[in-house]
Amino acid sequence: MESAIVLFIIKLVIAGGVMFFLYTDARARDHTWFMWTFAPILAIFTPDFAGSVLALTFIFVLYMFTRPKGELVKCPHCGKKIHDVLAFCPRCRQSVKRECLRCHDTVDWYAERCPHCGSMNLTKF
Ligand SMILES: [Zn+2]
Ligand SMILES: [Zn+2]
Repeated sequence: MESAIVLFIIKLVIAGGVMFFLYTDARARDHTWFMWTFAPILAIFTPDFAGSVLALTFIFVLYMFTRPKGELVKCPHCGKKIHDVLAFCPRCRQSVKRECLRCHDTVDWYAERCPHCGSMNLTKF
């Protein structure tokens, strides 16, 4: 009986770790974070310990394969990590890209000139 409780606690700790990772990573990528954060809870309720660990591993691997690819960068406004392809920060909702006023292309926040036409006439926020 006692070992069952211990195994359940271990299960909760692993699931908690997976949930925390999925939540921060999915939010940073503006992915469907709500679904991914709560998916590990389902894995806790499998009848045996090995089944739970297997289910958690499966959720984790599935997430790593389906998440939007790309690097995480720091948001210039709130400092949270965000996916570099996003035009708006999913955390603070502020724009993280500039616009070139000559060719109207999107330009990196820290860029001094437009990489497309070389213009230094970029929008400031
Ligand atoms: Zn932000
Ligand atoms: Zn330009």
